[in-house]
Amino acid sequence: MSLFDVVIVGGGPAGLMAAKVAGENGLSVALLERKENIAEIQRCCATMFAIEDEYYLGERMYFNEEKRRLVFPVTGFTVPYDGPYKNFYAWHLYTSDAQHVIKLGSYENNVAKGSRGRLSVTYSKAHLIKSLLADAQKAGVKIFPGANVVGFSRQKDVNQHITAEGKVFESVFTIAADGINSRLVKILGLNKNRTFYGTLVGVSYYMTGLHLPYPEAINYPMLFHKKTQYPIMIWIEPSPFAEDEFWVYTGGPAHPELNYKQELDRCITDSPFSKWFPNPVIRKQQAHVANIWSPAPTPFKDNVLIAGDAGWTVEAECTGSMMCGVKAAHAITEALRDNKPNVEGVKNYTGWWQQHFPESQDHTEFLQILTSALVGEDVSTYLNKLVTETLPCSLNPYNLLKSVNASIMGKIGQIQQERPDIIRMMQQISTLPIKEQMKQFIVTGFPNT
Ligand SMILES: Cc1cc2nc3c(=O)[nH]c(=O)nc-3n(C[C@H](O)[C@H](O)[C@H](O)COP(=O)(O)OP(=O)(O)OC[C@H]3O[C@@H](n4cnc5c(N)ncnc54)[C@H](O)[C@@H]3O)c2cc1C
Repeated sequence: MSLFDVVIVGGGPAGLMAAKVAGENGLSVALLERKENIAEIQRCCATMFAIEDEYYLGERMYFNEEKRRLVFPVTGFTVPYDGPYKNFYAWHLYTSDAQHVIKLGSYENNVAKGSRGRLSVTYSKAHLIKSLLADAQKAGVKIFPGANVVGFSRQKDVNQHITAEGKVFESVFTIAADGINSRLVKILGLNKNRTFYGTLVGVSYYMTGLHLPYPEAINYPMLFHKKTQYPIMIWIEPSPFAEDEFWVYTGGPAHPELNYKQELDRCITDSPFSKWFPNPVIRKQQAHVANIWSPAPTPFKDNVLIAGDAGWTVEAECTGSMMCGVKAAHAITEALRDNKPNVEGVKNYTGWWQQHFPESQDHTEFLQILTSALVGEDVSTYLNKLVTETLPCSLNPYNLLKSVNASIMGKIGQIQQERPDIIRMMQQISTLPIKEQMKQFIVTGFPNT
């Protein structure tokens, strides 16, 4: 059995990027991916290039459409992308009665500026994966599709990976790029030191037959589940694949009485937004399940470097995952060159990760977005109708609702007069620690501890 310099578990953006870079650096690399067809995207993803208009995870990434490259100037790399894409220019939130819209970004002004005015683009993740895979293969990486890693152990300075099919792969280093519900992170015992905040589930359709007021925007109706009063956020954005196609998604915290697919279908056929779907045809369906953990305490254990979603809260995004892949592969290259196959050898990765992930974004701000709509339909509609001005739009998920909340806070006197009950409720919620705010999500979640 050969001993690889590095075994990479997972062929998503983090794993393939790591494989490509490690292979190009001259390391012997095996990439193990449980799917038979690595480029087939089975899981929901909005595939927005996240994000173009500001710093995110300490990076200022953007899509250069003339050169057809995804550019990461801080981390210092580019990725070719010659697949389809669509610009979008604003983000519009609708109250559940469809009577009021909050405009983030001025659609008309931004459209008039062309691509300079866009918020970002949606692109084809399958195309990106295919091209990373081709580059990794060209660099000599051994690719093993249909290899589902179910066991891991470290024996005398060698990492052993056991697949469900009974094969064993050995290496000096491992990159755990196996996604949000990472089995490797669980086996390493790192989830025991993370706080569990619940489980997110969702469903998405690629659809045609829509008639939208603002087709080149994110259209975001904020519905509510009748029984639980959980928010049902519907996300509609232009699909990169066809002129008349849109990506339509809903999801949220798992709850035994809430079926998000039924809610999405209700939005399409029996809601104030049904008129947006005059002739609905579903071309493709996807789903996802994601545990919400606080970040891993460290992205390293037993010569395993943790990359992408596997060690982060909810999502590192495809962009953050590729950044992890690049940095992890270079750190292992240095460690082997310096004959330091240990934590000391890869300190450039662990230090970089701390700086770009937990020190750059406070994960509790992301969690706040999940809990903020828990106020219920009546209160949410009342508060959102107070926001009448066009606001700046941030695509940084951690800042997503900051301008909306600031606008509402600017009307605190009016709320005090009209709805003192809401002020009392807001005061009560704001004193609770985040774990307490998320209590109801935690009890209905199912952790991979
Ligand atoms: C609803 C939704 C919307 C999103 N929108 C965006 C967006 O607009 N823009 C954006 O950039 N990101 C978005 N994301 C996030 C994005 O999809 C992820 O952050 C990204 O795919 C993470 O990349 P990764 O390589 O870390 O993990 P993944 O892409 O999850 O890849 C992990 C890979 O590991 C494989 N694997 C898992 N376990 C094993 C195992 N035991 N053995 C072998 N292989 C295994 C999986 O099959 C998979 O191929 C969204 C996610 C969701 C759920």
